[in-house]
Amino acid sequence: MIIVMKPKTPAIEIQRISEEINGWNIIAEKSIGKHQVVIGLIGDTTELEPSRVQALSSFIEQVVPIERAFKRVSREFRNGEPSVVAVPTPNGVVQFGQDFPVVHIAGPCSVESESMIIATAQKLKQVGAKFLRGGAYKPRTSPYAFQGHGESALDFLATAREQTGLGIITEVMNVADLEKVAQVADIIQIGARNMHNYSLLKKAGSQSKPIFLKRGMCATIQEWLLAAEYIIAAGNSNIILCERGIRSFDSQFTRNTLDLSVIPVLRTLTHLPIAIDPSHGTGRSEYVPAMAKAAIAAGADSLMIEVHPNPAQALSDGPQSLNPEQYQDLMAEMIQVSQASDCRTKLTPQSAVLTAV
Ligand code: PEP
Ligand code: MN
Repeated sequence: MIIVMKPKTPAIEIQRISEEINGWNIIAEKSIGKHQVVIGLIGDTTELEPSRVQALSSFIEQVVPIERAFKRVSREFRNGEPSVVAVPTPNGVVQFGQDFPVVHIAGPCSVESESMIIATAQKLKQVGAKFLRGGAYKPRTSPYAFQGHGESALDFLATAREQTGLGIITEVMNVADLEKVAQVADIIQIGARNMHNYSLLKKAGSQSKPIFLKRGMCATIQEWLLAAEYIIAAGNSNIILCERGIRSFDSQFTRNTLDLSVIPVLRTLTHLPIAIDPSHGTGRSEYVPAMAKAAIAAGADSLMIEVHPNPAQALSDGPQSLNPEQYQDLMAEMIQVSQASDCRTKLTPQSAVLTAV
Protein backbone atom coordinates (compact mmCIF):
# COMPACT_ATOMS: atom_id res chain seq x y z
CA MET A 1 0.00 0.00 0.00
CA ILE A 2 1.20 3.53 -0.68
CA ILE A 3 0.06 6.90 0.56
CA VAL A 4 0.32 9.73 -1.94
CA MET A 5 0.64 13.03 -0.11
CA LYS A 6 -0.74 16.27 -1.49
CA PRO A 7 1.88 18.61 -2.98
CA LYS A 8 3.44 20.92 -0.37
CA THR A 9 2.47 18.78 2.62
CA PRO A 10 4.55 19.99 5.60
CA ALA A 11 7.41 17.64 6.49
CA ILE A 12 6.24 17.51 10.09
CA GLU A 13 2.88 16.10 8.98
CA ILE A 14 4.60 13.38 6.96
CA GLN A 15 6.69 12.58 10.00
CA ARG A 16 3.58 12.37 12.21
CA ILE A 17 1.79 10.03 9.79
CA SER A 18 4.88 7.82 9.48
CA GLU A 19 5.18 7.51 13.26
CA GLU A 20 1.51 6.63 13.57
CA ILE A 21 1.92 3.88 10.95
CA ASN A 22 5.09 2.56 12.60
CA GLY A 23 2.98 2.15 15.73
CA TRP A 24 0.85 -0.35 13.79
CA ASN A 25 3.96 -2.51 13.28
CA ILE A 26 4.21 -1.46 9.67
CA ILE A 27 7.28 0.27 8.26
CA ALA A 28 6.55 3.63 6.65
CA GLU A 29 9.11 4.37 3.94
CA LYS A 30 9.21 7.86 2.54
CA SER A 31 10.05 8.45 -1.11
CA ILE A 32 10.43 11.98 -2.39
CA GLY A 33 9.27 12.44 -5.97
CA LYS A 34 9.51 15.44 -8.26
CA HIS A 35 6.14 16.83 -7.17
CA GLN A 36 4.87 14.72 -4.32
CA VAL A 37 5.97 12.62 -1.40
CA VAL A 38 4.87 9.02 -1.34
CA ILE A 39 4.88 6.91 1.82
CA GLY A 40 5.23 3.21 1.15
CA LEU A 41 3.85 0.79 3.75
CA ILE A 42 5.98 -2.30 4.20
CA GLY A 43 4.73 -5.24 6.22
CA ASP A 44 1.51 -7.12 6.55
CA THR A 45 -1.13 -4.73 5.28
CA THR A 46 -3.69 -7.39 4.37
CA GLU A 47 -6.02 -6.42 7.22
CA LEU A 48 -5.45 -2.71 6.87
CA GLU A 49 -8.43 -0.77 5.53
CA PRO A 50 -7.40 2.03 3.12
CA SER A 51 -10.09 4.21 4.75
CA ARG A 52 -8.31 3.91 8.13
CA VAL A 53 -5.13 5.18 6.50
CA GLN A 54 -6.94 7.93 4.61
CA ALA A 55 -8.42 9.16 7.89
CA LEU A 56 -4.95 9.85 9.28
CA SER A 57 -4.64 13.25 7.64
CA SER A 58 -6.38 15.68 5.31
CA PHE A 59 -3.02 16.07 3.54
CA ILE A 60 -3.38 12.55 2.13
CA GLU A 61 -4.33 12.74 -1.53
CA GLN A 62 -4.79 9.02 -2.17
CA VAL A 63 -4.24 5.61 -0.63
CA VAL A 64 -3.36 2.97 -3.20
CA PRO A 65 -3.12 -0.74 -2.38
CA ILE A 66 -0.26 -2.60 -4.09
CA GLU A 67 -1.52 -6.08 -4.63
CA ARG A 68 1.53 -7.34 -6.43
CA ALA A 69 4.06 -9.70 -4.87
CA PHE A 70 6.82 -7.18 -5.47
CA LYS A 71 6.35 -3.90 -3.63
CA ARG A 72 9.31 -1.54 -3.44
CA VAL A 73 10.37 -2.15 -7.04
CA SER A 74 6.83 -1.68 -8.31
CA ARG A 75 6.01 1.38 -10.33
CA GLU A 76 3.21 2.25 -7.94
CA PHE A 77 5.65 2.48 -5.06
CA ARG A 78 7.05 5.66 -6.58
CA ASN A 79 3.66 6.84 -7.74
CA GLY A 80 4.58 6.20 -11.36
CA GLU A 81 7.83 8.11 -11.31
CA PRO A 82 10.77 6.23 -12.85
CA SER A 83 13.90 6.03 -10.73
CA VAL A 84 17.28 7.20 -11.92
CA VAL A 85 20.40 5.27 -10.95
CA ALA A 86 23.19 7.83 -10.79
CA VAL A 87 26.66 6.29 -10.87
CA PRO A 88 29.77 8.37 -10.22
CA THR A 89 32.69 7.51 -12.54
CA PRO A 90 36.03 9.30 -12.96
CA ASN A 91 34.61 10.87 -16.15
CA GLY A 92 31.51 12.18 -14.34
CA VAL A 93 28.18 10.96 -13.07
CA VAL A 94 26.30 8.65 -15.43
CA GLN A 95 22.56 8.45 -14.93
CA PHE A 96 20.68 5.34 -15.95
CA GLY A 97 17.08 6.20 -16.72
CA GLN A 98 17.94 9.81 -17.41
CA ASP A 99 20.89 10.22 -19.76
CA PHE A 100 19.99 10.59 -23.40
CA PRO A 101 20.16 8.64 -25.61
CA VAL A 102 21.12 5.52 -23.62
CA VAL A 103 23.99 4.52 -21.38
CA HIS A 104 26.43 2.41 -23.37
CA ILE A 105 28.29 -0.42 -21.66
CA ALA A 106 30.79 -2.40 -23.70
CA GLY A 107 33.77 -4.67 -23.35
CA PRO A 108 34.93 -8.25 -23.64
CA CYS A 109 33.17 -11.16 -22.03
CA SER A 110 36.30 -11.87 -19.95
CA VAL A 111 39.27 -9.78 -18.94
CA GLU A 112 42.03 -11.73 -20.69
CA SER A 113 45.11 -9.62 -19.97
CA GLU A 114 46.05 -6.16 -18.79
CA SER A 115 47.12 -4.89 -22.21
CA MET A 116 44.00 -6.30 -23.86
CA ILE A 117 41.58 -4.68 -21.43
CA ILE A 118 43.35 -1.32 -21.48
CA ALA A 119 43.55 -1.16 -25.28
CA THR A 120 39.89 -2.16 -25.55
CA ALA A 121 38.85 0.39 -22.94
CA GLN A 122 40.66 3.19 -24.77
CA LYS A 123 38.93 2.35 -28.01
CA LEU A 124 35.51 2.08 -26.35
CA LYS A 125 35.94 5.41 -24.66
CA GLN A 126 36.66 7.08 -28.01
CA VAL A 127 33.54 5.52 -29.47
CA GLY A 128 31.31 6.79 -26.66
CA ALA A 129 30.86 3.97 -24.15
CA LYS A 130 30.52 5.12 -20.54
CA PHE A 131 31.20 1.78 -18.86
CA LEU A 132 33.73 -0.94 -19.47
CA ARG A 133 32.47 -4.45 -18.87
CA GLY A 134 34.65 -7.53 -18.41
CA GLY A 135 34.42 -10.65 -16.31
CA ALA A 136 37.03 -11.49 -13.71
CA TYR A 137 34.99 -14.40 -12.32
CA LYS A 138 33.24 -16.23 -15.14
CA PRO A 139 30.23 -18.50 -14.73
CA ARG A 140 31.03 -21.15 -17.35
CA THR A 141 28.86 -24.11 -18.19
CA SER A 142 31.87 -26.43 -18.28
CA PRO A 143 34.32 -26.63 -15.37
CA TYR A 144 37.08 -27.10 -17.96
CA ALA A 145 36.35 -23.83 -19.76
CA PHE A 146 38.26 -20.62 -18.94
CA GLN A 147 37.04 -19.48 -15.53
CA GLY A 148 38.41 -15.93 -15.58
CA HIS A 149 41.60 -14.52 -14.07
CA GLY A 150 39.89 -13.65 -10.77
CA GLU A 151 41.61 -11.11 -8.54
CA SER A 152 44.34 -10.21 -11.03
CA ALA A 153 41.63 -9.37 -13.57
CA LEU A 154 40.10 -7.02 -11.01
CA ASP A 155 43.45 -5.23 -10.80
CA PHE A 156 43.56 -4.93 -14.61
CA LEU A 157 40.06 -3.43 -14.57
CA ALA A 158 41.16 -0.94 -11.93
CA THR A 159 44.06 0.12 -14.15
CA ALA A 160 41.78 0.46 -17.17
CA ARG A 161 39.49 2.66 -15.08
CA GLU A 162 42.40 4.81 -13.97
CA GLN A 163 43.68 5.25 -17.51
CA THR A 164 40.39 5.92 -19.27
CA GLY A 165 38.01 7.20 -16.61
CA LEU A 166 35.38 4.68 -17.75
CA GLY A 167 33.17 3.19 -15.05
CA ILE A 168 33.66 -0.52 -14.42
CA ILE A 169 30.99 -3.19 -14.40
CA THR A 170 31.96 -6.72 -13.52
CA GLU A 171 30.25 -9.80 -12.21
CA VAL A 172 30.26 -11.22 -8.72
CA MET A 173 29.51 -14.92 -8.46
CA ASN A 174 29.57 -15.52 -4.74
CA VAL A 175 29.13 -13.72 -1.45
CA ALA A 176 32.76 -14.20 -0.40
CA ASP A 177 34.02 -12.11 -3.36
CA LEU A 178 31.54 -9.28 -3.03
CA GLU A 179 33.74 -6.86 -1.09
CA LYS A 180 36.71 -7.40 -3.40
CA VAL A 181 34.57 -6.82 -6.48
CA ALA A 182 32.92 -3.76 -4.92
CA GLN A 183 36.32 -2.15 -4.41
CA VAL A 184 36.90 -2.06 -8.16
CA ALA A 185 33.43 -2.05 -9.70
CA ASP A 186 31.30 1.06 -10.06
CA ILE A 187 28.42 -1.30 -10.79
CA ILE A 188 28.28 -4.92 -9.69
CA GLN A 189 26.76 -7.42 -12.08
CA ILE A 190 24.72 -10.35 -10.85
CA GLY A 191 24.51 -12.71 -13.79
CA ALA A 192 21.67 -14.77 -15.16
CA ARG A 193 22.80 -17.91 -13.34
CA ASN A 194 22.84 -16.14 -10.00
CA MET A 195 19.59 -14.27 -10.29
CA HIS A 196 18.07 -16.89 -7.99
CA ASN A 197 20.97 -16.82 -5.51
CA TYR A 198 19.07 -15.26 -2.65
CA SER A 199 21.96 -15.01 -0.22
CA LEU A 200 23.98 -13.15 -2.86
CA LEU A 201 21.01 -10.86 -3.58
CA LYS A 202 20.62 -10.04 0.12
CA LYS A 203 24.32 -9.33 0.48
CA ALA A 204 24.27 -7.14 -2.66
CA GLY A 205 21.41 -5.25 -1.10
CA SER A 206 23.30 -4.61 2.09
CA GLN A 207 26.10 -2.68 0.39
CA SER A 208 25.93 0.54 -1.56
CA LYS A 209 27.30 -0.14 -5.06
CA PRO A 210 24.62 -0.23 -7.78
CA ILE A 211 23.57 -3.66 -8.99
CA PHE A 212 23.14 -4.74 -12.60
CA LEU A 213 20.68 -7.60 -12.26
CA LYS A 214 20.45 -9.86 -15.26
CA ARG A 215 17.33 -11.89 -15.92
CA GLY A 216 17.73 -15.58 -15.21
CA MET A 217 17.61 -17.58 -18.41
CA CYS A 218 14.40 -19.30 -17.34
CA ALA A 219 13.05 -16.61 -15.03
CA THR A 220 9.59 -15.18 -15.38
CA ILE A 221 9.25 -11.42 -15.15
CA GLN A 222 7.72 -11.84 -11.69
CA GLU A 223 10.66 -13.95 -10.46
CA TRP A 224 13.09 -11.39 -11.85
CA LEU A 225 11.32 -8.50 -10.14
CA LEU A 226 11.18 -10.46 -6.91
CA ALA A 227 14.95 -10.98 -7.17
CA ALA A 228 15.26 -7.20 -7.46
CA GLU A 229 12.92 -6.89 -4.49
CA TYR A 230 15.42 -8.90 -2.40
CA ILE A 231 18.09 -6.30 -3.16
CA ILE A 232 15.88 -3.30 -2.51
CA ALA A 233 14.42 -4.85 0.64
CA ALA A 234 17.95 -5.24 2.00
CA GLY A 235 18.53 -1.51 1.54
CA ASN A 236 19.95 -0.91 -1.94
CA SER A 237 17.58 0.74 -4.40
CA ASN A 238 20.21 1.34 -7.08
CA ILE A 239 19.27 -1.51 -9.37
CA ILE A 240 19.36 -1.76 -13.16
CA LEU A 241 17.46 -4.64 -14.72
CA CYS A 242 19.09 -6.32 -17.72
CA GLU A 243 17.31 -8.59 -20.19
CA ARG A 244 19.84 -10.98 -21.75
CA GLY A 245 17.68 -13.53 -23.48
CA ILE A 246 15.72 -16.45 -22.19
CA ARG A 247 15.77 -20.13 -23.03
CA SER A 248 13.18 -21.16 -25.53
CA PHE A 249 12.62 -24.24 -27.63
CA ASP A 250 14.86 -23.17 -30.52
CA SER A 251 18.57 -22.96 -29.82
CA GLN A 252 19.67 -24.08 -33.27
CA PHE A 253 20.25 -20.67 -34.80
CA THR A 254 20.35 -18.35 -31.80
CA ARG A 255 21.74 -18.86 -28.31
CA ASN A 256 18.73 -17.37 -26.54
CA THR A 257 15.50 -15.60 -27.31
CA LEU A 258 15.96 -11.91 -26.60
CA ASP A 259 12.72 -10.80 -25.00
CA LEU A 260 12.49 -7.18 -26.08
CA SER A 261 8.84 -7.11 -25.12
CA VAL A 262 9.99 -6.81 -21.52
CA ILE A 263 10.77 -3.15 -22.15
CA PRO A 264 7.19 -1.90 -22.42
CA VAL A 265 6.05 -4.55 -19.94
CA LEU A 266 8.56 -3.52 -17.29
CA ARG A 267 7.64 0.11 -17.80
CA THR A 268 4.18 -0.67 -16.49
CA LEU A 269 5.47 -2.78 -13.61
CA THR A 270 8.57 -1.14 -12.18
CA HIS A 271 10.33 2.18 -11.74
CA LEU A 272 13.77 0.63 -12.27
CA PRO A 273 15.90 1.44 -15.35
CA ILE A 274 16.09 -1.21 -18.07
CA ALA A 275 19.17 -2.45 -19.93
CA ILE A 276 19.35 -4.85 -22.85
CA ASP A 277 22.20 -7.24 -23.66
CA PRO A 278 21.82 -8.26 -27.30
CA SER A 279 25.14 -10.17 -27.24
CA HIS A 280 24.05 -12.93 -24.85
CA GLY A 281 20.52 -12.39 -26.15
CA THR A 282 21.39 -13.68 -29.62
CA GLY A 283 24.77 -15.38 -29.21
CA ARG A 284 25.82 -14.25 -32.70
CA SER A 285 27.63 -11.01 -33.48
CA GLU A 286 25.84 -10.60 -36.82
CA TYR A 287 22.48 -10.32 -35.02
CA VAL A 288 23.64 -7.86 -32.39
CA PRO A 289 23.23 -4.60 -34.38
CA ALA A 290 19.58 -5.21 -35.29
CA MET A 291 18.64 -6.08 -31.73
CA ALA A 292 20.64 -3.19 -30.26
CA LYS A 293 18.81 -0.71 -32.47
CA ALA A 294 15.46 -2.35 -31.77
CA ALA A 295 16.14 -2.09 -28.02
CA ILE A 296 16.73 1.64 -28.34
CA ALA A 297 13.60 2.07 -30.43
CA ALA A 298 11.64 0.15 -27.80
CA GLY A 299 12.85 2.51 -25.10
CA ALA A 300 15.76 0.80 -23.32
CA ASP A 301 17.76 2.96 -20.90
CA SER A 302 21.05 1.18 -21.46
CA LEU A 303 22.77 -1.34 -23.72
CA MET A 304 25.45 -3.84 -22.77
CA ILE A 305 27.40 -5.12 -25.77
CA GLU A 306 30.33 -7.51 -25.86
CA VAL A 307 33.31 -6.11 -27.78
CA HIS A 308 36.61 -7.96 -28.16
CA PRO A 309 39.73 -6.80 -30.01
CA ASN A 310 39.89 -10.13 -31.82
CA PRO A 311 36.67 -12.14 -31.40
CA ALA A 312 38.05 -15.21 -33.19
CA GLN A 313 40.65 -15.59 -30.43
CA ALA A 314 38.39 -14.75 -27.47
CA LEU A 315 38.60 -17.02 -24.43
CA SER A 316 34.84 -16.76 -23.97
CA ASP A 317 31.86 -15.65 -26.04
CA GLY A 318 33.85 -14.85 -29.20
CA PRO A 319 31.00 -15.71 -31.61
CA GLN A 320 28.76 -13.04 -30.09
CA SER A 321 31.42 -10.34 -29.73
CA LEU A 322 31.79 -7.38 -32.07
CA ASN A 323 35.24 -6.07 -32.87
CA PRO A 324 35.89 -2.41 -32.00
CA GLU A 325 35.36 -1.24 -35.60
CA GLN A 326 32.00 -2.99 -35.78
CA TYR A 327 31.06 -1.41 -32.47
CA GLN A 328 32.02 2.00 -33.79
CA ASP A 329 29.82 1.52 -36.89
CA LEU A 330 26.98 0.31 -34.72
CA MET A 331 27.36 3.30 -32.41
CA ALA A 332 26.77 5.67 -35.35
CA GLU A 333 23.60 3.77 -36.23
CA MET A 334 22.45 3.63 -32.61
CA ILE A 335 22.80 7.38 -32.31
CA GLN A 336 20.62 7.83 -35.39
CA VAL A 337 17.93 5.58 -33.94
CA SER A 338 18.05 7.42 -30.62
CA GLN A 339 17.69 10.75 -32.34
CA ALA A 340 14.63 9.60 -34.25
CA SER A 341 12.67 10.03 -31.03
CA ASP A 342 13.04 9.71 -27.31
CA CYS A 343 11.16 6.47 -27.06
CA ARG A 344 11.45 6.24 -23.31
CA THR A 345 9.19 9.21 -22.75
CA LYS A 346 6.59 7.96 -25.16
CA LEU A 347 6.51 4.49 -23.72
CA THR A 348 6.12 5.49 -20.10
CA PRO A 349 2.47 4.81 -19.37
CA GLN A 350 1.98 7.39 -16.64
CA SER A 351 -1.77 7.12 -16.81
CA ALA A 352 -1.80 3.35 -16.32
CA VAL A 353 0.14 3.51 -13.13
CA LEU A 354 -2.26 4.02 -10.33
CA THR A 355 -4.95 1.74 -11.61
CA ALA A 356 -2.62 -1.18 -12.32
CA VAL A 357 -2.91 -3.32 -9.19
C1 PEP B 1 28.30 -12.04 -19.08
O1 PEP B 1 27.82 -10.90 -18.99
O2 PEP B 1 29.40 -12.30 -19.60
C2 PEP B 1 27.46 -13.18 -18.63
C3 PEP B 1 27.99 -14.33 -18.24
O3 PEP B 1 26.17 -12.90 -18.72
P1 PEP B 1 24.86 -13.78 -18.38
O4 PEP B 1 24.83 -13.88 -16.89
O5 PEP B 1 23.77 -12.94 -18.95
O6 PEP B 1 25.02 -15.10 -19.07
MN1 MN C 1 29.79 -13.29 -22.03
